[in-house]
Amino acid sequence: MSDRPVRVRIAPSPTGDPHVGTAYVGLINLAFARRHEGSFVLRIEDTDQERSTRASEQAIFDALRWVGLSWDEGPDVGGPFGPYRQSERTEIYREHVRHLLDSGAAYPCFCDGPTLEGIRKRQRELKRNKGYDGTCRAIPPDEARARMAAGEPHVIRLRVPDGTTTVHDELRGDVVIDHDQIDDQVLLKTDGFPTYHLANVVDDHLMEITHVIRAEEWINSTPKHILLYAAFGWEPPKWVHLPLLRNHDKSKISKRKNPVSLLYYKQIGILPEAMLNFLALLGHSMPDEREVFELDEFVREFSFQRISLGGPVFDVEKLLWLNGVRIRAMDPRVLADRIREAMVPGDWLQQVVPLFQERMRALGEFMPQAAFFRQPGLDVPASELIGAIKGGGDPKILSKWLTEAGERLDALRDFEPAPIEEALRAWCEQADVPTGTLFMLLRLSLTGRKATPPLFETMTVLGRAACSQRLRTAAATLKAAPAPKPAPAG
Ligand code: GLU
Repeated sequence: MSDRPVRVRIAPSPTGDPHVGTAYVGLINLAFARRHEGSFVLRIEDTDQERSTRASEQAIFDALRWVGLSWDEGPDVGGPFGPYRQSERTEIYREHVRHLLDSGAAYPCFCDGPTLEGIRKRQRELKRNKGYDGTCRAIPPDEARARMAAGEPHVIRLRVPDGTTTVHDELRGDVVIDHDQIDDQVLLKTDGFPTYHLANVVDDHLMEITHVIRAEEWINSTPKHILLYAAFGWEPPKWVHLPLLRNHDKSKISKRKNPVSLLYYKQIGILPEAMLNFLALLGHSMPDEREVFELDEFVREFSFQRISLGGPVFDVEKLLWLNGVRIRAMDPRVLADRIREAMVPGDWLQQVVPLFQERMRALGEFMPQAAFFRQPGLDVPASELIGAIKGGGDPKILSKWLTEAGERLDALRDFEPAPIEEALRAWCEQADVPTGTLFMLLRLSLTGRKATPPLFETMTVLGRAACSQRLRTAAATLKAAPAPKPAPAG
């Protein structure tokens, strides 16, 4: 290791709910930083203007803190290398691109959409790996400058030289990549905003990151990043690509098979220390094979050598087991406090109480009516779901409705009552399903009850992750249910 002080980072994009993978990668970065008395940085990569939101950014901070992670530098805590939010660094990226243009390492590309489509098609016919063939490389620099000055729309691309690049990964050894696999990647988009590659490399360099420890899914970007470091004349960091978390069937962890939002686990009452313990067990083993331990013990034993590359399975049963072990070890008075905090936290009560105020006659009616919000693994029987539909219904079709409507909800940027209602009404219209029918089916799938507070408000408070999980459970229950008996003839 070079003698520079260790500096590592996580760089989540603030889109959607905070992901368990972010906490996993964050934990490994934190452990490595602490082990080497280094710094752990949180950077927000919000260059995707369409999908990034401040609400999602805040949810990332809150969820990572909930689980017990803390960072030395970041948008919310400041630090000497800020700003730590990429949307506030646009001028830095543009300036760096100007250097690359001046040195000839990058060039403007004026190809428009249809031209690019034509190029890609031709490249496919010629069975070339690259999507872009370098057409605009041939434009003389003076002409290129004049066209840029005249405001002609363009992107800036990296001029990838011929040759090969070796990626040395600390866990995997060397991988050699031939440059004919690597496109002249876009660095600045037409709107003048940077791509992930450019912003990520410039920031890692300027923030003096010594080790990039990230998920395996980014490994294909690494040769591009190494080429960018070379174009700038900078020394690249060390690379560590952590194995991806997996579903039981070994596919990449996804919300279709497992809840992946930290908020979901918080909501059902997973203890944050159990979550952190569980994440620490994914892919990393302790010298004495111990399974129940605290963060400081993990930091003490942490080593890249103890990480196995075999695709750790995100096993929710194991998480519940660990949670149970910790619950049983607790002083009952502490446990009572923890239940109170977890089940009726102040901010949650503030959101939920107005939903029930209209229908309560005594305070004691609140808990039974609102219990569905916090229930882990709500699983409504098929007969009740089918019974929600006037005259019954074919469970396979109802299952399909729930799946399709659920996909609409998953795609929403803001999980607020108005957009939820709009998306569901649009789906009903398109699928030719009466709104009342779908809404009753949703109400039952999400709450287990026929009478609830207003559906869309309830969904917002329940949260995207729990809604998505419950709809999937109900869809699976219906799919497995026997088809209805044909009505007797005559
Ligand atoms: N913004 C990327 C993400 O969402 C960062 C990947 C990296 O760590 O380089 O995870």
